[in-house]
Amino acid sequence: MGEFELIETYFKASFCAMATNAMALGIGDDCALLNLNQNNQLAISTDTLVGGSHFPIDADPFLVGQRVLATTVSDLAAMGATPIAFTLALTLPEVNESWLRGFAEGLADKAKQCQISLAGGDTTKGPLTITATVLGEIPKGNALCRKGAQVGDLLCVSGYIGLGAGALPFVLDKLDYSPILLKEYWSPLPQLELGLLLRGKATACIDISDGLVADCGHIANASGVALMIDSELLPYHPELSKYYDKKQCLSFMLTGGDDYQLAFTLPEKEWAQISAQYPSAQIIGSVQAGAGVTVLDENKQPIILAQQGHQHFRS
Ligand code: ADP
Ligand code: MG
Repeated sequence: MGEFELIETYFKASFCAMATNAMALGIGDDCALLNLNQNNQLAISTDTLVGGSHFPIDADPFLVGQRVLATTVSDLAAMGATPIAFTLALTLPEVNESWLRGFAEGLADKAKQCQISLAGGDTTKGPLTITATVLGEIPKGNALCRKGAQVGDLLCVSGYIGLGAGALPFVLDKLDYSPILLKEYWSPLPQLELGLLLRGKATACIDISDGLVADCGHIANASGVALMIDSELLPYHPELSKYYDKKQCLSFMLTGGDDYQLAFTLPEKEWAQISAQYPSAQIIGSVQAGAGVTVLDENKQPIILAQQGHQHFRS
């Protein structure tokens, strides 16, 4: 049973996940949306990093602090929400003051960058595990959901992709190779500014945490459309090309994950303004009738992928 089937079977289908007047959007998107009042909604999302599984146990704690908050706030960006506050659940094997000092500094650094305040949490003893829950605000009707992509829309990304995946071998082997790639892995910049610009314009949006193809698959499923990715339009970062050949770069960009860029669908008429306001955004394909995600090679033939992206459990 895969991660998503597990969530569907045991949690989304459970009576405790039923829709209520307060819950405008439940399980299945980057954030849930709760009605605060007539005009505003609260966006909420949780992410966990497990030491030794999601990051090396002896990694620089400053970087771990930055990464845990960046990856969680990224889900607020994907909804077009403005950050308000977060909570932190910390499970530690021991009290190591120098680790805690570094971690807290990294966390505070990212919190300042994202303008989000720590509101509470929980501290327990056990294997190193860090969970952040973020809260954000959005005017009712403005949230960018996975559902909503329309046939004829453009498929776009917020910037270069594949960098986090390109950094992962260096992270795992503790190689001090490329500061540019390592920064994308340890301290991705949540695309909050673009999320705001896309309010009322993008028809669907997701942050690319599990890989472009896998995450576009969530938009395609939720929207009932097919997404076509033209591999020739994908933005190759020169730093990625410095370390990897073209085939490896393409694989990182399509299925690598850990990007925390946004993938979004946009009516063609909105493109001129978005690209002028946010020049790193790129058109990478289109929305068509059908289902699933197809990646086309330079001859416009479908590329067969061994896997679509990262999943915590595979069937
Ligand atoms: P993201 O990659 O954006 O963080 P996930 O792929 O982790 O999202 O989760 C997909 C959806 O499933 C989200 O709406 C999330 O809230 C929900 N979800 C994940 N795990 C659980 C769980 N154990 N119980 C309820 N909902 C869950
Ligand atoms: Mg997400």
